Amino acid sequence: MDLRLTDEQSDARALARQFVRREVTPYAADWDRAESVDPALPGRLGELGFLGLTLPEEYGGSGGDHLTYTLVTEELGRGDSSVRGLLSVSLGLVAKSVAAWGTEEQKRRWLPGLCSGQSLGCFGLTEPGTGSDAAALTTRARRDGGDWVLDGAKTFITNGTWAEVVLLFARTGGEGHRGVSAFLVPADSPGLTRTPVHGKLGLRGQPTAELVLDGVRVPGDALLGEEGRGFTVAMSALAKGRMSVAAGCVGLAQASLDAAVGYAGEREQFGTTLAHHQLVQELLADIAVDVDAARLLTWRVADLIDRGEPFATESSVAKLYASEAAVRCANNALQVFGGHGYIDAHPVGKLVRDARVMTLYEGTSQIHKLLIGRALTGVSAF
Ligand code: FAD
Repeated sequence: MDLRLTDEQSDARALARQFVRREVTPYAADWDRAESVDPALPGRLGELGFLGLTLPEEYGGSGGDHLTYTLVTEELGRGDSSVRGLLSVSLGLVAKSVAAWGTEEQKRRWLPGLCSGQSLGCFGLTEPGTGSDAAALTTRARRDGGDWVLDGAKTFITNGTWAEVVLLFARTGGEGHRGVSAFLVPADSPGLTRTPVHGKLGLRGQPTAELVLDGVRVPGDALLGEEGRGFTVAMSALAKGRMSVAAGCVGLAQASLDAAVGYAGEREQFGTTLAHHQLVQELLADIAVDVDAARLLTWRVADLIDRGEPFATESSVAKLYASEAAVRCANNALQVFGGHGYIDAHPVGKLVRDARVMTLYEGTSQIHKLLIGRALTGVSAF
């Protein structure tokens, strides 16, 4: 199933597919065991133009539309969700926010490095005490002369130990979302401690960190957007970011389908290949339907963004469906592999582990149902 793509879109997807086949798939299992993808990867993703997708060339971006962005993201997710996540966060949440909300000086300072992969960005919203209820965050920023001084803690921060810049959300005013502001904080700022998180169920190759801010001083021009508008910066980043997660889920689901179809054609039981057994075909068909449905919902978001139409609810729909589908597809693929799927030597166990987080981050499935319900009824149930 495919759309009619432009030459540029087809070329970008082919480039991503080739990159993944040669430089990601052969190493993904080792990175998973070593709990680290290759540190040279951000540079490669930059060289190929992937980290600058949709961003203006004058700041080092590689342009392109959001459909191209989803096609490339899907291919990365098909190869390794840890690699896909590096891009979804650094480009999707951080660089795109700098491009959308930054001053000319902020764009010139941060975007060229983020687009080239010489630097990575991380997104510091979640705290130990505030996940789904992000507007209740307690990290504090207070003015001191012309500077801001930041104190608090952030948890589960993707790219946290590798990033050069943290897009950090802190309270500058009273309670609720109107008291939150966004800051661009250099990750090597004195007083900022980053501790790696180990023992994740999946996405093991991806650097994840806890951040502690103890009197971190940044100049006044570190504020991104207006004071008190940080929650709007966060939510607008996440609305597009969810499309990127959904595209990664489509890639993971497609990888599940590829693996299951391949194995069903090889493995023999009862004197014939698994592919001859009707209930195995049912598992394969269920995966295939989920892949197509998730992909079309994701492409719809990209199309809406590229046409300048509202897309936030459609982005929730795509993220909710694609993430739940990724979990189902990986699980069905493992069922096709039988006991062999439970052993590390086959790729489907990793797909199951990597898929599981997709229904948790960038809004849990429950939160997306509440967002969709609010859009349908006008009633906020949270
Ligand atoms: P909680 O909010 O405590 O929720 C627990 C459960 O309660 C969930 O099932 C939830 O759906 C349910 N629940 C909560 N409120 C309601 C409600 N009103 N109605 C119904 N159900 C409800 N955060 C960042 O800021 N930056 C990152 O880069 C980042 N990367 C991450 C990477 C990984 C690997 C992980 C695991 C998390 C990451 N996160 C990141 C954090 C992630 O976004 C949060 O884990 C997520 O928002 C959920 O918050 P929580 O874990 O505190 O769960």
